[in-house]
Amino acid sequence: MLNILLAGDKPRRLFPEPLSHELARRGIAARLADDHLPAETDYIVLAPNSPLQDFTPYSRTKAVLSTWMGAEALVNNPTLTQPLARMVDPAMTRGMTEYVTAHVMRHHMGIDRYVHGLQGEWRQILPPLAPERPVTILGMGELGREAGQTLATLGFPVTGWSRSPREVPGLTRMFHGAEGLLPALEGAQILVILLPLTPATENLLGPEEFARLAPGAVIINPARGPIIDDDALLAALDSGQVDHATLDVFRVEPLPPDHPYWHHPRVTVTPHVAAETRPESAAAVLAKNIARVERGEPLLYQVDRNAGY
Ligand code: NDP
Repeated sequence: MLNILLAGDKPRRLFPEPLSHELARRGIAARLADDHLPAETDYIVLAPNSPLQDFTPYSRTKAVLSTWMGAEALVNNPTLTQPLARMVDPAMTRGMTEYVTAHVMRHHMGIDRYVHGLQGEWRQILPPLAPERPVTILGMGELGREAGQTLATLGFPVTGWSRSPREVPGLTRMFHGAEGLLPALEGAQILVILLPLTPATENLLGPEEFARLAPGAVIINPARGPIIDDDALLAALDSGQVDHATLDVFRVEPLPPDHPYWHHPRVTVTPHVAAETRPESAAAVLAKNIARVERGEPLLYQVDRNAGY
């Protein structure tokens, strides 16, 4: 019988039923609780914002399984020495693809002008078709690849950028590494950020990077707030180099009420809703990973502490 500690509000409230079901389906007997003693805990299912931050006493724990995709809140915790997996939930990936596609299409089609109203003026504006609208996606991981391939299927020429060289079928161009960033940004009309937050990606996008985009470009950031230099983005919006920014993530969340993004006429704020962990599908991922470890197989989606994601 395995003891699985549910740490954090959402794991405790939302995961007992679907996770019990998924473990039972795989023939794994487990006790799920939020108060297992450290010396008796086999696995920890954790939301990184849980009060549990000192993992030192969990010497018997075989793995810590996060319910979040982003690992930046965990990689620098020196007490967390157990094998660590992040969540890669197909339903969450689907949610991100829908968010990115919706916001790309909104800007591509110029839908806002009709939503805000034409004030009685019968003005017909023909938007370009997708093949005339270059899109760049920074980050070619679980989220960037699926979003990029979906946009490519719609006809957009999509450029991808990753840390290591990657082949992504359907994409028009791929760049990698620090030297590939500016070429990847060159002339993009829509920029989508799907990178993890690491020391190498913090403040990655500033004046030099915005200047490489096509004049009047649109930026969509559902990854992590600190990847963008906020002052540089506000300056690029004011100069018109960036026409619009759709931001789901921020340096400080909730975004403080007096932050200029709230009131900027060409910034859309969404409150970190791009892709949420879905307990049913996430429970299947957790149970599959626990089953693998129990069989002596390597953990899936293990965080690379050196790379920081
Ligand atoms: P992955 O780890 O699967 O992919 C990350 C991608 O970024 C990889 O292609 C990686 O390159 C690339 N990358 C990392 N560091 C660098 C660098 N220094 N230079 C160039 N490329 C780099 O992450 P996911 O796709 O699963 O998720 C991305 C992020 O999205 C998460 O870390 C999280 O912060 C955010 N997120 C936001 C959500 C929301 O609701 N707003 C929900 C879920 C996630 P390589 O391929 O070479 O490894």
